[in-house]
Amino acid sequence: MSETHAHAANCCDDMPKGTLTVDQALERIQSAVPLVSGIERVAIREALGRVLAVDVHSAVDVPSHTNSAMDGYAVNSADLPGEGEAKLKVIGTSWAGRPYTGTVGRGECARIFTGAAMPDGTDTVLMQEAVERDDDTIRLLARHKAGENVRHAGEDLAQGGLVLEAGHWIRPADIGVLASVGVPEVNVRRRLRVAFFSTGDELRSIGEPLGKGEIYDSNRYTIYGMLKRLGVEMIDMGVIRDDRDATRQAFKDAAAIADVVITSGGVSVGEADFVKETLDELGKVDFWKIAMKPGKPLAFGFVDGAVFFGLPGNPVSVMVTFYQFALPAMKSMMGCRETFTPTFRLPLVDSLRKGKGRTEFQRGILERDASGQPVVRTTGEQGSGILSSMSRGNCFIILPRDSEGAQPGDIVEVQPFDGIV
Ligand code: AMP
Ligand code: MG
Repeated sequence: MSETHAHAANCCDDMPKGTLTVDQALERIQSAVPLVSGIERVAIREALGRVLAVDVHSAVDVPSHTNSAMDGYAVNSADLPGEGEAKLKVIGTSWAGRPYTGTVGRGECARIFTGAAMPDGTDTVLMQEAVERDDDTIRLLARHKAGENVRHAGEDLAQGGLVLEAGHWIRPADIGVLASVGVPEVNVRRRLRVAFFSTGDELRSIGEPLGKGEIYDSNRYTIYGMLKRLGVEMIDMGVIRDDRDATRQAFKDAAAIADVVITSGGVSVGEADFVKETLDELGKVDFWKIAMKPGKPLAFGFVDGAVFFGLPGNPVSVMVTFYQFALPAMKSMMGCRETFTPTFRLPLVDSLRKGKGRTEFQRGILERDASGQPVVRTTGEQGSGILSSMSRGNCFIILPRDSEGAQPGDIVEVQPFDGIV
């Protein structure tokens, strides 16, 4: 795992004035966004996908008792032969949930099953495949280690110890861990409220016929999908016409109900003036040019107290800027400790064209080559309007700002769209 675009952090002499690197933009955003206030107490199943607000400590040991990791025989390590073999008498059985209550003496052992408590007098479990059983006797050879195949009380989580830290984004393992320490409910941060709308006179909603020069609004659907996965409360405000009053009203309404307002379109050079006036009046918003492709224009700031992301209009640019800027920023606001998205390095299958000067987020397909090795290949055409590239691809191939392309066999930085589930 490496940190994304760390290489683009310094030297910006080669960039046009007023342009930010990806890292600079992200730093500015991260240092500006506030943490949402408000904590809710929820059942652990409801806590899935939420952010823990308070540390959780364990009131118990997990496991609660020292137990067997195997089906086999519980013995006293003092009875393990130093050489040759030994015979032990089987005097009882310890089942998971039904422990053997007697004491195992020298020269004796107990049948034991996985998860069963170790009987008094035993400290080692011999796997059943490792011994020979004959009636009530087992025969063992001199190849066992004292203490083998035993799980100790508290070895997973100790009583009083930290189970999960505040700021942890709760995943399936975590709700299992919480159950393992007997915790029914936890304190999580309240959900972030995010309002979003599309801008543009050319946009039609699905179900309507398309006139000449018109297109269907797809950004509201990709934004919906990305927000849904983030687990925020969504307010879909539809399509807003390129009209001063409508835009002003939409921003006011959105900021009044949401922590974050996300729009797409209307921030590129030709359109910025109009939106800019509205935003200057309502808040403090900067219009940035970022040395990246796609996603060069981005507006960020505050509108009537809400955090505002003005994403570009092109469908791929929307997704790239959402993932690279809005997503980590919203994670911070939600109280997440870790906001970065992991990347790793893999060999490239084909050649990628690129000009110097901008960090590129090309779309790639992570797969295995004929010999089973993980590799990445391009989805092909990389235009910022080719949304199908995001759909066909399963990762970004991140090419650094100073790169002039990549060749087959080169090692490139890859950022998968999905984790496990
Ligand atoms: P803009 O930044 O508003 O100039 O938009 C840039 C490009 O993205 C134009 O080709 C727009 O038609 C397109 N676009 C803007 N908004 C959307 C949207 N919601 N869905 C699909 N395409 C869009
Ligand atoms: Mg537009």
